[in-house]
Amino acid sequence: MKVLVINSGSSSLKYQLYDMTDESVLAKGLVERIGMESSILNHKPTGGQEVTEVKEILEHNTAIRKVLAMLTDSEHGVIESIDEIDAVGHRVVHGGESFKASALVDDNAKSEIRRLIDLAPLHNPAAMMGITASEANMPGIPMVVVFDTAFHQDMPKKAYLYAIPKVLYNKYKVRRYGFHGTSHEYVSKAAAEFLGQSIEDLKIITCHIGNGGSITAVLGGHSVDTSMGMTPLEGLMMGTRSGDLDPAIVPYVMNKEELTVNEVNSMLNKHSGLLAISGVSSDMREITDGLAEGDPNCTLAFEMYEYRMRKYIGSYAAAMNGVDVIVFTAGVGENSVVVREKVCENLTYLGVEIDDALNAIRSGEPRLISTANSKVKVLVVPTNEELVIARDTYRIVNESK
Ligand code: AMP
Repeated sequence: MKVLVINSGSSSLKYQLYDMTDESVLAKGLVERIGMESSILNHKPTGGQEVTEVKEILEHNTAIRKVLAMLTDSEHGVIESIDEIDAVGHRVVHGGESFKASALVDDNAKSEIRRLIDLAPLHNPAAMMGITASEANMPGIPMVVVFDTAFHQDMPKKAYLYAIPKVLYNKYKVRRYGFHGTSHEYVSKAAAEFLGQSIEDLKIITCHIGNGGSITAVLGGHSVDTSMGMTPLEGLMMGTRSGDLDPAIVPYVMNKEELTVNEVNSMLNKHSGLLAISGVSSDMREITDGLAEGDPNCTLAFEMYEYRMRKYIGSYAAAMNGVDVIVFTAGVGENSVVVREKVCENLTYLGVEIDDALNAIRSGEPRLISTANSKVKVLVVPTNEELVIARDTYRIVNESK
């Protein structure tokens, strides 16, 4: 069975074609700058020649058509016909309270995703464009939606409710949802598997630290708390997002600077975080370069970032009354030796001890970076959100037959 995984953003579309007999990736690629004059399609057939084309791709329907043409291309393709695609899996950011797990795409699921646009105005419309374009170009092929929020739907009320008037939850579903759920689920399971232990017996803290970042407390395989909230703005300091702040700052700054709702939203989402404090970049590679050179702004940005991570790890150890495993994943978590080193350096009170030589190793495989004496196992586990989507799609489509 071949499964096409689609991750559709407002101006981009990522894809991977899996052969589920051995979960191998046949091809993957990315369409960028959809809707702009020169869109870029980058296609990588496994074992073949990478190809990049610059064309005008004005909307997602054309993007999907180009992707399908590339997948079936006589030179760069990996399948002979679209008919070889048995199912399509779509990433959807917000499933609200409606989706506690991945689901088959039907009229009901689509109207629910549309209804949730209110909660994810930037993300869910893009996912819907991907779904609509796929349906138009692959009629009759079963499709599945996989949600970033679903894994966190197990959270207890005490963790997901905000201490504000209840009417806001009852009327508008204002609550914590959490994001990066497919990643937190994947790496927590992979960590338990790597350690040869049952996940039911483990208290795991998963740190998904990329351009966006979130930390989750995974108790017995269930998300019991997570740092992102109703939107992906809450929690950690991120590339361009502020993370936690005193909510009273928002009306104060709006008043002082005469900002609109959109302007303050943009300030907190796009002009804050590492970028704002360093004044240099939102990219951790440039921040750590600045740190190494003694740049005071990069040093402060790094210290704030690492300190916030540590506070979350400490609070989730408290939430679970202990921690057995800490997992680092995503762009920063998988690649930044110094972020892992500095975070763990100040977790000795939990019994965390990392091995500098193990921490410095680079590999694409799950690996242990703590010492034999460390009370807490510290792992680096490369995340694979696309594989989770492909697996869920495969399972749900087979179950529906
Ligand atoms: P992601 O959102 O998971 O794709 O992560 C992207 C981010 O990972 C980039 O913006 C960088 O900040 C970070 N990153 C990637 N490689 C490295 C590296 N070698 N060292 C530090 N940060 C990195």
